[in-house]
Amino acid sequence: MPRFSIRQCPRCHVHREMWNTSQVCAGCRIREERAIASLPKGKAWIAVAKALRAGKLVRLPCEVCGTKRTDAHHDDYAAPLDVRWLCRSHHRSHHHQFGPGKNAFIEGETA
Ligand SMILES: [Zn+2]
Ligand SMILES: [Zn+2]
Ligand SMILES: [Zn+2]
Repeated sequence: MPRFSIRQCPRCHVHREMWNTSQVCAGCRIREERAIASLPKGKAWIAVAKALRAGKLVRLPCEVCGTKRTDAHHDDYAAPLDVRWLCRSHHRSHHHQFGPGKNAFIEGETA
């Protein structure tokens, strides 16, 4: 099975060679990654990934159920290393209940 095929990118609607594993074309993917990285939210994620690699931050079990596979959750994205550890489902329900963390987006941004 080939690893990429000619498909229409759902973002830019251009037919391109796209990896089977990716949803959008390489150009749109880079644009999206840059857009996310420019948001406080993205910067906080990058800071967490770096701190984990450097051993400055340690991944902990979910503070609700104790599951080991967790995501870093920010109550305030302006404090990137001030995280709480929640599993996928408790993380999702937390945001469902409380909305995005403080300073998740640049002012005026609604996404
Ligand atoms: Zn595209
Ligand atoms: Zn949990
Ligand atoms: Zn969160």
